[in-house]
Amino acid sequence: MLDYCKDGGLMIIDGRHVSKVIREEVQIEVERLKTKGIVPGLAVVIVGQDPASQSYVRSKEKTCLNLGMYSEKHALEASTSQETLLGLIDDLNKNDKIHGILVQMPLPKHIDEWHVINAIDPRKDVDGFHPINVGKLSIGVDGLKPCTPYGMIKLLEHYDLDISGKHAVVLGRSNIVGKPIGMMLLQKNATVTTCHSRTENLKEILKSADLLVVAIGRPGFVTKDMVKEGAIVLDVGINRVETGLVGDVAPEVMEVASHMTPVPGGVGPMTITMLMNNTLEACKKINFDA
Ligand code: NDP
Repeated sequence: MLDYCKDGGLMIIDGRHVSKVIREEVQIEVERLKTKGIVPGLAVVIVGQDPASQSYVRSKEKTCLNLGMYSEKHALEASTSQETLLGLIDDLNKNDKIHGILVQMPLPKHIDEWHVINAIDPRKDVDGFHPINVGKLSIGVDGLKPCTPYGMIKLLEHYDLDISGKHAVVLGRSNIVGKPIGMMLLQKNATVTTCHSRTENLKEILKSADLLVVAIGRPGFVTKDMVKEGAIVLDVGINRVETGLVGDVAPEVMEVASHMTPVPGGVGPMTITMLMNNTLEACKKINFDA
């Protein structure tokens, strides 16, 4: 059965559907663990009142509970000291009910994000941002992987899109998306080029991509003249404009791409799903590999 929609020559990569499939698998595994007396637990820590962060935290909590996992939310005042936050992380590192710790970014300016990320037990680092997990990813050893790029790999796998030997171009070099997806694609045997704001001949490089990943936060930046006919396009961008949410890739790119993620409904839904998947993976590792 085809579980994607076909629109002319284009296949829309349906992140909502793939996300649902993975959540069902996670839920079954959570139920199985519960029969052994183990409940995967996620702690989400938020500092301050940023409305977007509050909304992300709410949906993480809700998804966790829907999948039968244990969830804890720690909401701290914006004025909380770094020392207090590090104390909480230390407690969560030692708490047997917690297998995943997520500290919602951004943090208030007086707190050093790297210090906080470093303080999380790498086995509970479900965001995959701890240097130990970044190192594991770069040398191809099993560790916790950052959710958004991991979700993109799951999308490629779900649609059986083999990128071995193909030219994958990643536009954007952030630590949370651009760099890790580059490493993951390399492990999938793609030939990877990473581009950023200083890249020369950008259009030429983008146009040579068999797979194009765009994560720059610029609405509609990539236009159809920059994309090779038949390329696979994964649009990570989430930009709020007057008309609603749009990606970094202009909709006209659908005229040339063979497969493309829509915004919303493409890469976005995969992020929380992979967070749940990571919490489950962390729980299993902590309980069975110890
Ligand atoms: P960052 O702001 O951390 O990084 C942006 C990157 O884009 C930088 O490497 C920057 O280059 C590059 N860039 C910016 N402008 C240009 C340009 N004109 N030409 C070429 N390169 C450019 O972004 P993130 O990776 O955090 O996020 C990117 C987008 O993805 C955002 O829209 C964000 O909202 C979205 N996002 C979506 C997620 C999801 O769940 N779907 C999760 C995370 C992010 P340089 O390094 O040279 O400055």
